[in-house]
Amino acid sequence: MNLYEETRFIMNKYGIQAKKSLGQNFLIDEEVVNKIIENSEISKSDLVIEIGPGLGTLTSKLLEKAGKVIAIELDNTVLKILNDRFKLYDNFELINQDILKTDLNNLIRLNLNNKIKYCKVVANLPYYITTPIITKLLEENLNLVSITVMVQKEVAKRLTGIPGKSKDIGAISHYIYYYSDSKIVLNVPRSSFIPSPDVDSSVIVFNLLKQPRVNIEDKDFLFKIIKLSFSQKRKTLLNSLVNNNICSSKEELENILTELDINTKVRAEELSLQDFVNISKKIKP
Ligand code: SAM
Repeated sequence: MNLYEETRFIMNKYGIQAKKSLGQNFLIDEEVVNKIIENSEISKSDLVIEIGPGLGTLTSKLLEKAGKVIAIELDNTVLKILNDRFKLYDNFELINQDILKTDLNNLIRLNLNNKIKYCKVVANLPYYITTPIITKLLEENLNLVSITVMVQKEVAKRLTGIPGKSKDIGAISHYIYYYSDSKIVLNVPRSSFIPSPDVDSSVIVFNLLKQPRVNIEDKDFLFKIIKLSFSQKRKTLLNSLVNNNICSSKEELENILTELDINTKVRAEELSLQDFVNISKKIKP
């Protein structure tokens, strides 16, 4: 049986219909599965957190490679499938929960030991919550080595764009660049899934940096400025920040930009992370 036939067989056997509302597009391309596993560089000293195991396609390969796999799945109709498939594996744990409500810090702390030393996230993400999941993984200060995830192709470009160099970026690109080295490792056509989504996909690897890329005392203020700067896309940085009351006056911000040798008509997507660090330090010295 190939992966397509196996997936169809499991869906028929358990009476499963893919749920669009949960972003369910099941992988049916063996080569893509192998490449995800290869790029995630999993070994027996790794704890893998898999978000959304679905029918268990990635899970079964992860279980062969990893010290332990914790799969977090919201859909309770697939739990029986996963428990039936992996009941013989003592390195498998299934948690029926919303990933966005899961205390990952605690989970990682409880599962790392002197044999299983590193934690990696691997997932074919539910696309409707890509940004909140990635934000959570980066923001919660987790003890993670890497994140290997499948996302929509267009989103992948934005997530891996280097601020100041790439035009197609958003606030999240700064976030990712602050915490990690990221790269697209594979493009995946829509035909690699059932049901086939309306868009193509890409696999990204984020390698978490030991220290954040730039030095800043008030990181929350830096990211508040970045978020507000991108909140009104067609506006200049000056207008976005003044409209959001970040500065007392337009003149004050104009002076700050001029002092930093930044054009006062600049837009958020033209600035590097270091530019934002410099601006935020001047606004809140
Ligand atoms: N890993 C499987 C594969 O590659 O075939 C399924 C991937 S599918 C794109 C996304 C999975 O995430 C689905 O199984 C879906 O039920 C699950 N999911 C959706 N929202 C979730 C949430 N908030 N927390 C945990 N899992 C979720």
